[in-house]
Amino acid sequence: MKRIKAIYPGSFDPPTNGHLDLIERGSKIFDELVVAILRNPEKDPLFSVADRRKMLEAMTSDFENVSVDTFDGLTVDYALRIEARAILRGIRAVSDYEYELQMALMNRKLQPGLETVFMMPAEKYSYLSSRLVREVAQLGGNIDCLVPEVVGQKLREKMDVAHKFENGAQPTEKTHSDGRGKSSRKETKKRL
Ligand code: ADP
Repeated sequence: MKRIKAIYPGSFDPPTNGHLDLIERGSKIFDELVVAILRNPEKDPLFSVADRRKMLEAMTSDFENVSVDTFDGLTVDYALRIEARAILRGIRAVSDYEYELQMALMNRKLQPGLETVFMMPAEKYSYLSSRLVREVAQLGGNIDCLVPEVVGQKLREKMDVAHKFENGAQPTEKTHSDGRGKSSRKETKKRL
């Protein structure tokens, strides 16, 4: 019988318990699952690709059939290159559906042999997104039940350094400790 390899592509900035829930579900139905971090030069991430990779490797170390990789370019090209036959994506709520459907149909157009498989996380993670985790952490909220321990630790380190800078040190916009300009914190305050 053919072994089925799937990729789980995303930004994972940072990885959350919702991502982990999906990885666990995916690892049960696919023979091999590759968590694939998109190296997207257009985005202004909180965590470097290397940091995200380390966090994902640590939180998936118990799953024997799960590995972590990075890629750029088209997801379908990457999938083909590593001989994956399916793309795993998560659907949390109806709001995810339209975008995910568009992407899945476009990917099918580009590569008809590749299937997109949608899975739903446990209900308790259905409100959880990397963006919300970043916002809660930046505003000093408790993120312990939202992310794995290793991610919580990294987030706290990042926020500690950011607060130190805000209380005296004068980082330049480029070298701001959380990897973003100061304005991102102000924008966050308006939203949450
Ligand atoms: P992207 O920028 O590709 O959306 P994300 O890291 O935000 O990257 O998400 C990667 C995938 O994980 C997407 O399919 C997204 O819907 C899914 N996902 C994100 N958060 C959750 C969650 N809490 N539960 C289930 N799936 C999730």
